[in-house]
Amino acid sequence: MVFFSNAKAWPGGAFFKRWTRELERKLMGFESQEERVTQEQPVELSGSSSVAVAEGGESVEGKKIIEVGGKRFVLDKKKAEEVFAAKKVINGIDTMTFNLLPLKYQWAYDLYRNMKANHWEPEDIPMNKDIEQWRSADQLSDSDRWIVRMGIGYFSAAEGIVGDNILHVIREMVTAPELKLVLGRHAHEENIHADSLLYMISSLGIDPHECEAMFVDVESIVAKNEFVTRISKDLRRDLDMTRIENIQELAKNMFVFGQCMEGTQFYGLFGMILSLWRQNKFPGIGQMFSYTLRDESNHIELLRQLLMQLVEENPAIWTNEFKDSLVGLMRTAVGLEKQFIDDCLPVESVGLNRDDFKIYIDFIADRRLEGVGLPLLNEGVKNPFPWLAEMMDIKKEQNFFEQRVTEYQKSSALVKPQDDSDL
Ligand code: FE
Ligand code: MN
Repeated sequence: MVFFSNAKAWPGGAFFKRWTRELERKLMGFESQEERVTQEQPVELSGSSSVAVAEGGESVEGKKIIEVGGKRFVLDKKKAEEVFAAKKVINGIDTMTFNLLPLKYQWAYDLYRNMKANHWEPEDIPMNKDIEQWRSADQLSDSDRWIVRMGIGYFSAAEGIVGDNILHVIREMVTAPELKLVLGRHAHEENIHADSLLYMISSLGIDPHECEAMFVDVESIVAKNEFVTRISKDLRRDLDMTRIENIQELAKNMFVFGQCMEGTQFYGLFGMILSLWRQNKFPGIGQMFSYTLRDESNHIELLRQLLMQLVEENPAIWTNEFKDSLVGLMRTAVGLEKQFIDDCLPVESVGLNRDDFKIYIDFIADRRLEGVGLPLLNEGVKNPFPWLAEMMDIKKEQNFFEQRVTEYQKSSALVKPQDDSDL
């Protein structure tokens, strides 16, 4: 399959070689030039659980010395053990004091640090070239403009829906503070994404009402949004979270939002917009979508880990019947995404083949199912866009802070999320 003849001129290309090896070696974990974080080693606390402590941690009678993110803490051993044992994804110790220590879910704190290291702001990305292209008579096709309108229209609704569900459903129901911490960051990243769309709308001079009208008028957008909002609404009431069917409702929410929506239904447009970017169209918008995609990789991983942890702590929910229902939901999500792809690509243009995008969605959906240990829908389906896999890897590994120094720069560490490494 031949993609774009001008691919060499694609702005991100030069980064790939430079970064892959170096970052693999240097930037995994939270290692950066400014600070080196001691790799935590587990130590036995009460029960079979473990807690992070400093390497060769000092032991003082009745105390527990813990090192997290390069900081040392001395905790009362007995209290630390009690808190640790009482921490759960749901139905755990519930306090308003946000006691992070001792960390039980180290992965959640690690992910939080990774997300923070990838912070970006829309206004840092120049839009002058996009504006010039948007206004020109010959630099873009109608189909290019339509894809960008669909991208802005769909994501304007979707980012809000995800952020609202994270904040008002998932973050409300989980009890461990480190889980609330990373979910708060997740919600904030959805704010950044929503804000970036506003920045695109204002830069291009798109009528915001026209954009809102898409949530109502484009049937495939309405269907995608209804699919997820229904599942979110089902949990917005008082539920007895000791009941298996209610825990399954929450697990379903985590699966649908993380794996079906952010993990699969975002990827049709991500693929289209990044393929335009690869043709040197919309350099600013493409850059923002690539940062958004990198953030989404972390969100998918967060919700995947959270679901797996919830299942581990509540194994009774993971029945064959329940697993089948989740696979069925993914099947529905894929069907909706394929209808949406038809709406995004009413006319095929260079490099944008409708059938390839549908195969791509099948491929992505199976990776998500695999990630949570569920059976695949299309065993053996191949990724029709190898260039996209390469591009996604680069975007995750590229240290964009090197291009410009910003005041919020805290760390040069950009960790490659495990999740999308093979996409
Ligand atoms: Fe987002
Ligand atoms: Mn997200």
